[in-house]
Amino acid sequence: MAKQRTLSIIKPDATERNLTGKINSIFEENGLRIIAQKRIHLSRRQAEQFYAVHKERPFYGELVDYMISGPVVVQALEGENAVLKNRELMGATDPAKADAGTIRKLYGEGIERNAVHGSDSPENAAAEIRFFFSDTEIVG
Ligand code: ADP
Ligand code: MG
Repeated sequence: MAKQRTLSIIKPDATERNLTGKINSIFEENGLRIIAQKRIHLSRRQAEQFYAVHKERPFYGELVDYMISGPVVVQALEGENAVLKNRELMGATDPAKADAGTIRKLYGEGIERNAVHGSDSPENAAAEIRFFFSDTEIVG
């Protein structure tokens, strides 16, 4: 399988607890290369746009509030089968249901405060990477 890219976000609950390095180690130790990265504070508009697919879900408002409650680290990851690989490393949305050793099992605090975001398909990955990074900010 060819190299693939995916969009990852280290969420406010994780940056608050200074877990960026520990989470990045998991990516790097498992064959994902961080080819773009920046620490930013999302605007409400950015968070609303990024999660627009969840607009009708009951947790949408809370999710937006949470995502702008502190800094996030947005990053593009590259590797073999990167989209699925990252989803495997992340674990299930609800940390209580995530497999042992996954990022969400290790560091998630709850179904909302679950430490990381990862794209769920190659198509969404491309759109999400474009949402945060220009071509010159991505160095593979
Ligand atoms: P994932 O991040 O695993 O792809 P979703 O795309 O379904 O999960 O949801 C996006 C984010 O919304 C989750 O990562 C989590 O932060 C939040 N979320 C999902 N489900 C719930 C829920 N039932 N209650 C509160 N927040 C939720
Ligand atoms: Mg999702």
